[in-house]
Amino acid sequence: MFNIVIFGPPGAGKGTQSKLIIDKYRLTHLSTGDILRGEMAAKTPLGLEAKDLIEKGLLVPDEIVIKMVKNKIDDNLDKKGFIFDGFPRTCEQAAALDKILRERNTTISVMISLEVEEEELITRLLKRAETEGRQDDNIKVIKNRIQVYNEVTCKVADYYGKTGRHRPVDGTGSVEEIFDRICRVVDESEKVTA
Ligand code: AMP
Repeated sequence: MFNIVIFGPPGAGKGTQSKLIIDKYRLTHLSTGDILRGEMAAKTPLGLEAKDLIEKGLLVPDEIVIKMVKNKIDDNLDKKGFIFDGFPRTCEQAAALDKILRERNTTISVMISLEVEEEELITRLLKRAETEGRQDDNIKVIKNRIQVYNEVTCKVADYYGKTGRHRPVDGTGSVEEIFDRICRVVDESEKVTA
């Protein structure tokens, strides 16, 4: 398998770039945010538990997201590989992901980290609020989500850095320009993994 993580603060463009990466590299998309929103829409017990946290911009407990991810991996072991989007968001999640993949004889080849200034993130998320109507895209929750990223999630970059798998990519410019930068990193990593 060939697996990658797309990483970055809220509004960095992880979802937009994931769609392009999936099309080009035929990877299976695993977005914990999408799974959680699906659970919320279906009003499952998990969705109801997560709703309050998501609407405040806080993280859902590690045990819950790790279990969700494990199930989704096991349902897709016949696929070429995964792109993890919005996961891992804590070092505990990153270590759990490494363990799950190791037990299945695979690994994360590279972690692509989209770098965007905070002011630009807020502008993008407020724009997305108008087009997608996500409950958590309002200024108060956006600020909480960025704070959670700065205090907790950004440490995940060091986790991958320690094993030489962290690749920062400039997340500004046109969607196509950013995608070109990402492809260069993915191509290089795929060559090494093959
Ligand atoms: P996203 O769509 O990735 O921006 O995620 C939306 C929200 O879902 C986040 O603000 C968190 O509340 C929750 N969430 C998504 N992924 C995770 C994760 N890996 N760990 C904890 N909470 C998550």
